Amino acid sequence: MHIVEIHERTVPLSRFADPALPSGGLTTSVVAVTVETAPGRRVTGYGFGSFGRYGQAGLIAERFAPRLRAASAAALTGADGALDPAAAWAAMMHGEKPGGHGERCVAVGTLDTALWDAAAKAADRPLWAHLAAWARRPSGDPPRVPVYAGGGYRYPADDRRRLAEEMKRFRDLGFVRAKMKVGGAPLADDLARVETAQGAIGDPGSVAVDAMNAYGPDDAREAATALAALGPWWIEDICDPLDFDTLAVVAGRSPVPIAAGEALFSLAEARLLARHGGLDPSRDVLLFDPVHCYGPTHYAAIVGAMEASGWPRRAFWPHGGHLVSLHVAAALGLGGSEINPTSFAPFGGLGDRVAIADGRAAPPDAPGFGFETGAALAAALRSMLPA
Ligand code: MG
Repeated sequence: MHIVEIHERTVPLSRFADPALPSGGLTTSVVAVTVETAPGRRVTGYGFGSFGRYGQAGLIAERFAPRLRAASAAALTGADGALDPAAAWAAMMHGEKPGGHGERCVAVGTLDTALWDAAAKAADRPLWAHLAAWARRPSGDPPRVPVYAGGGYRYPADDRRRLAEEMKRFRDLGFVRAKMKVGGAPLADDLARVETAQGAIGDPGSVAVDAMNAYGPDDAREAATALAALGPWWIEDICDPLDFDTLAVVAGRSPVPIAAGEALFSLAEARLLARHGGLDPSRDVLLFDPVHCYGPTHYAAIVGAMEASGWPRRAFWPHGGHLVSLHVAAALGLGGSEINPTSFAPFGGLGDRVAIADGRAAPPDAPGFGFETGAALAAALRSMLPA
């Protein structure tokens, strides 16, 4: 067992279905990790850095890929002799100090995702079943996971009409719930946008609103009060991710669920949110992104620790909106998963074979994450390997 090769590339991403619309120069890292699991038997796992945190080429090239390449067979395998992503994770993190998560967690999480893809392919199992077995969770029939459509970014022109069209498209795709962005416009404009989306989906309580950390301590409460009056499914990321004082004030007064945690990337930070964020485990929503949180290996530890401290698994709705978040939600028995059917192509969404019906989706039964079941995604990933 050894790592044969690791390829990394930074690629551009668009938040819009139309990639010509400006999207702020966002990028993500794509990796291909080829492992020789037995003499003459090679398997390639793929990963990407989810969305929102830019590519991590430097950290991958300088620290984490070299440690994986140098790892011995014993450092990559579990007691059964198979590729063990948790063991490889420890090898990647060798010498790293606690704290200082920065975006190191995204670099590690991208590689960890690829190692999980490789390990599940080596075991000839879909990722969700492989991860569930590792986490000692049920791994029988593929669960139909509750999903919602993420999107609703403000369009540079003709915003309201295009927003309504987007929400109707989500409904036509089989979603019953969706999420949209607010916070980038005067509050009155945002309230009108929310009502437009709610009208297009057909149920006010089926639209979550995501403020993308736009509000400061002084205006978060006013915005949350006004948004809550429209009865959304939840209000997400109302203030700075580490401003637990403001979050606690908003959460303590909110009549609707509060969602947080998308920009917290470690178990230590999750514990701070639980202790100081004023959230209600019986009502509120945890958004941690499995890739950004050092990958599925560490994300599973976060879920386990939060459950032990009173958070139900149904509270977890992982950020991301791709096959990784769907598989992880299925494996760990979480509340559901975001899906980005039109944003961040070709990495967003669920490939070409997953049918969404009544707001639920089952992961594809291909080995690994099944990235290869999406033609555009498969082409992007295969292009990572030398011809
Ligand atoms: Mg968000």
